[in-house]
Amino acid sequence: MSKKRVVVIGSGFAGLSVATHLASSGYEVTILEKNSTPGGRARKFEAEGFVFDMGPSWYWMPDVFDTYFAHFGKKVSDYYQLKRLDPSYAVIFGQDDFVDIPADLDAFRALLESMEPGAAAQLDTFLEQAAYKYKVGIQDLVYRPSRSVFEFTSPALLADMLRMDIFQSMAKHVRKFFKEDKIIRLMEFPVLFLGETAQNIPALYSLMNYADIALGTWYPEGVCIRL
Ligand SMILES: Cc1cc2nc3c(=O)[nH]c(=O)nc-3n(C[C@H](O)[C@H](O)[C@H](O)COP(=O)(O)OP(=O)(O)OC[C@H]3O[C@@H](n4cnc5c(N)ncnc54)[C@H](O)[C@@H]3O)c2cc1C
Repeated sequence: MSKKRVVVIGSGFAGLSVATHLASSGYEVTILEKNSTPGGRARKFEAEGFVFDMGPSWYWMPDVFDTYFAHFGKKVSDYYQLKRLDPSYAVIFGQDDFVDIPADLDAFRALLESMEPGAAAQLDTFLEQAAYKYKVGIQDLVYRPSRSVFEFTSPALLADMLRMDIFQSMAKHVRKFFKEDKIIRLMEFPVLFLGETAQNIPALYSLMNYADIALGTWYPEGVCIRL
């Protein structure tokens, strides 16, 4: 019997992921891409011997990539090496006003404590809650195919949702833990990646802080950093 044929439009991460999963399930897959190279927003641009990243430079949530490659019996390290940089990045508040974010959690705790007494202990509780949201958010929400609302109506998941802070804004949530303006801005900034402000996004997304601070900011060697 001939294979079922599928056409995937677009070769960004999403298109490549769905195409490879379908191919491994036995479909004959054709990817249509309007650009001359694959990768979507994660493409590179080369001109006059220089190479520029068109999009991502930070590699967050490494577990998501681990899960992807494991599906095909592969490992991330079969294809690229990850490097944890220290400091992870710098946050610039204004001219000559910046803070380096250390990769080490204890060093990050100490940094917050130096900015606001008591903030290290507050961070521990904040991250404990964020870890829970990450676990439930990624494992129980993101990996569901979303074909029907009934996928999300199990009693266990509904109980979890109450702990996920979906009815409180991120802005309010962060201010419950921290008073110092710079710490608030540090903790609010990851929602920038979701294209929203902390006022308009649910505190569920403190899971992004967990991804940043606990799971770390990584850089695929030769891909996003060129020294
Ligand atoms: C400047 C910038 C910085 C970023 N930094 C980070 C970061 O540090 N870390 C991070 O995790 N994420 C980052 N992102 C986000 C990340 O790049 C995107 O979330 C991700 O690449 C999106 O993948 P996608 O497959 O959903 O969409 P896309 O990458 O947009 O892929 C869509 C593909 O479909 C193709 N396409 C669309 N319409 C058609 C059509 N009609 N026919 C044929 N082809 C079509 C497009 O050409 C494209 O190749 C950044 C994005 C940008 C722009």
